[in-house]
Amino acid sequence: MGAVPQIAVAMEELGELISVLSRFVFRGRGTPEDIASEIADVQICVEQFQEVFGGVEFRETVQMIKKQKLERLKNRLSEEKYE
Ligand SMILES: [Mg+2]
Repeated sequence: MGAVPQIAVAMEELGELISVLSRFVFRGRGTPEDIASEIADVQICVEQFQEVFGGVEFRETVQMIKKQKLERLKNRLSEEKYE
C-alpha cells in the first residue's frame, strides 16, 4: 500500500476510535471491548504507517519525543503533588 492510502486508513481508524469514545462519553453506549477493538485498530495502523516516514529512524524519533513528553508529564505531576 502506498503512503497516502496508508495514512488515509490510519485517519479512518482514528475517526472510528473517536466515534466509539464519543458514543461512550455522550450517550453512555458501547462496551470497553468496543473501545479496545478500536484502540487495537489504531495501534496496528499507526505502527504500519510510520514506515511511510522512514521506518526505523522515524520510529526512533517518535520514541525520543515520547520519552521527553513522558518526562515532562512526570515532572509536572510531581510539581502538582507538592503545591
Ligand atoms: Mg476500526
